[in-house]
Amino acid sequence: MAANKKLLILPGDGIGPEVMREVRRVIDWMDRRRMVTFDVSEDYVGGASIDARGAPITDNCMQAAKDADAILFGSVGGPKWDGIGFDKRPEVAILRLRKELDLFANLRPAIVFDPLVDASTLKADVIRGLDIMIVRESTGGIYFGEPRGVETMANGEKRGFDTETYTTSEIERVARVGFELARKRGNKLCSVEKANVMQSGLFWRQTVTALQKAEYPDVELSHMYADNCAMQLVRNPRQFDVIVTSNIFGDLLSDLASMLTGSLGMLPSATLGAVQPSGKRHALYEPIHGSAPDIAGKGVANPLAQILSFAMLLRYSFEMNEDADLIEKACVNVLGSGLRTADIMGPGTARVGTGVMGESILRELEKLSA
Ligand code: NAD
Repeated sequence: MAANKKLLILPGDGIGPEVMREVRRVIDWMDRRRMVTFDVSEDYVGGASIDARGAPITDNCMQAAKDADAILFGSVGGPKWDGIGFDKRPEVAILRLRKELDLFANLRPAIVFDPLVDASTLKADVIRGLDIMIVRESTGGIYFGEPRGVETMANGEKRGFDTETYTTSEIERVARVGFELARKRGNKLCSVEKANVMQSGLFWRQTVTALQKAEYPDVELSHMYADNCAMQLVRNPRQFDVIVTSNIFGDLLSDLASMLTGSLGMLPSATLGAVQPSGKRHALYEPIHGSAPDIAGKGVANPLAQILSFAMLLRYSFEMNEDADLIEKACVNVLGSGLRTADIMGPGTARVGTGVMGESILRELEKLSA
């Protein structure tokens, strides 16, 4: 029996608790069938925490997040809390988690599952079999760089400004995540910046090149300007394996890449912190979709992005690759059988709700592991 792994579950608001319920069923199934026991604790976060505890995330919850081996997050926010001041809004919960756990590497896979190849706006021939990973630096760069602000100049005109800034260690730590991932996949890393027009971009390129020479000579490294990368992602996305890039370019490129797959309800993500001396690494896993207040409480949300986020958690926090593969395969097979939640309906498919989709995954897990 493997040692217990500490898992903190934060379902959040809207459809968060609905889709998380289906993950809990997968966890229970693993407890019963796969001889893995998780120490699962659960807490309020976001609007639910504001209602229950008066803050989007409490200090107790933050401590539990620091103690956990991995965090599975739902989504936060909704119209009920829209009028609240900026620093007390539900979204503060995720920002505080990212900041205090120093979660600097955001991993966004863009995978096209065969049964959903027609859900994309791109031609099936371009995206069939797509499996790429975008690593976005998520705690530095222009979103946080100083100086920033709006000032009035001597001539009375106003000027707004932000600063793109990266240190050697900030670039190296996120590039290492990219190199390590590449080693476990197709062994190709593409580093993306604007070295042609930005000093910080040139510095990024030189730093990644030096790191490859020193630590990852076995990984094939290429460089690409961010504007070309956006074009290439649409023209021929399968040329990529792992992409590593800065906060702002990653923000844009990962949204672009996720839409290659065509469905918000299918897309997981991970955000990783640094490996600590103890060997532990903070990590938070969440679907990329929000709390979908328009469908909350109706039992129609697609639970697959949340379930696939759990599969990522198994893979990247616990190295339980076989179990992650099993869950991903169960999702593909259920989609292949023609069952669909409303968001991914296509011709000739059968519409099911959140609970039936979850049950079907469990049945498929049973079948695959029989
Ligand atoms: P959203 O992702 O919640 O919804 C966009 C559209 O996609 C909606 O029509 C919704 O019904 C649909 N959708 C999303 N997930 C789905 C699923 N699993 N199954 C079926 N359909 C799904 O984005 P939004 O409407 O812009 O934001 C709603 C709230 O979520 C806002 O308060 C926003 O701030 C918050 N949000 C939170 C996070 C987070 O917690 N990390 C991320 C994005 C948005």
